[in-house]
Amino acid sequence: MKNQLLDVLIIGGGPAGLNAALMLGRARKHVVVIDDSRARNAVTRETHGFLTRDGVSPSEFRRIAKAEINAYPSVSFVTDTAISVTGTDGDFQVTTAGGNTFASRKLLFAIGMKDQPLGIPGLAEVYGKSAYVCPYCDGWELRDQPLVILHKGADLMHFAPLISGWTSQLTVCTNGPDELTDAQREEIRGHQIPIFESPIRSIDSLDGIVRQVVLEDGTAISCRGIFFKPELVTGSDLPREIGCDITDAGTIVVDEFGKTSVPGVYSAGDAASRMQQAIAAAAMGAFTAAAMNNELNLEAWKRNG
Ligand SMILES: Cc1cc2nc3c(=O)[nH]c(=O)nc-3n(C[C@H](O)[C@H](O)[C@H](O)COP(=O)(O)OP(=O)(O)OC[C@H]3O[C@@H](n4cnc5c(N)ncnc54)[C@H](O)[C@@H]3O)c2cc1C
Repeated sequence: MKNQLLDVLIIGGGPAGLNAALMLGRARKHVVVIDDSRARNAVTRETHGFLTRDGVSPSEFRRIAKAEINAYPSVSFVTDTAISVTGTDGDFQVTTAGGNTFASRKLLFAIGMKDQPLGIPGLAEVYGKSAYVCPYCDGWELRDQPLVILHKGADLMHFAPLISGWTSQLTVCTNGPDELTDAQREEIRGHQIPIFESPIRSIDSLDGIVRQVVLEDGTAISCRGIFFKPELVTGSDLPREIGCDITDAGTIVVDEFGKTSVPGVYSAGDAASRMQQAIAAAAMGAFTAAAMNNELNLEAWKRNG
């Protein structure tokens, strides 16, 4: 399929890409959203903290969003994977795994982030059901429960105090050397939070609900939930391949308008932010779309003047 020159091709149809599509559709721009349904939160049953949608399932969120966007006929959706980008600002070409080719004036990467392999036996079974990454998203459901924080290093000095806001029953498992200074270790232990460095042998669970974390030294830590920080990379390698600068945290470098280091290429949502929450991604999609629309309108104004 070879389409007309689009105004914006959005790669990624999560909260960021969908809110951008809504804004651009209302601004009468010709837009295609390509998405291959690998949302990072697909492992979860509920999305929390999105005003008017608290507790909605990730799939229902997308269904409602698409139903609303369908009111704007200049936006269409394609289920496919974008695999290559060529061209420059004003005339990008994107090809997909399904054999489609799209030409577009501007590109928006709303590709989210994806987890690197989790590595610990049993963690995949509980991920999104009782093991989570963000206490703002899922801490309320685990309030006052015995929880394990699975993390190590100086970042624990942020993570442990944060999660202590939801429960006082905390244990830290570092799955190897804790990489803390003596003072940091003492500070955590001073809050009656034990630290275990023994490698984790397995995470035992029933129907996705963690029962215990079993260590190589034989210790079994009974708990009802886990918070951890998986390693993340952008949802697609395409931004890096076309020369977008990437931060040390693995996100795409953008300015306050969502512009990447490549002219005509924008990014929004988890892929371009450290605040990785659905409502923050949607908001970033909205204001990035507004910036893109401004640029498109100015360019058209000059072309037609
Ligand atoms: C376990 C877990 C629980 C969470 N719970 C919550 C919660 O309760 N509340 C909350 O606010 N947030 C929650 N989050 C965070 C939330 O999922 C993200 O902040 C949000 O999904 C980010 O939206 P996004 O649009 O940036 O990316 P995503 O929702 O990840 O969407 C990106 C999309 O891009 C697509 N994509 C990537 N590359 C390509 C390509 N090359 N071609 C085509 N499509 C592509 C992917 O398939 C995906 O559909 C949770 C995250 C996790 C991991």
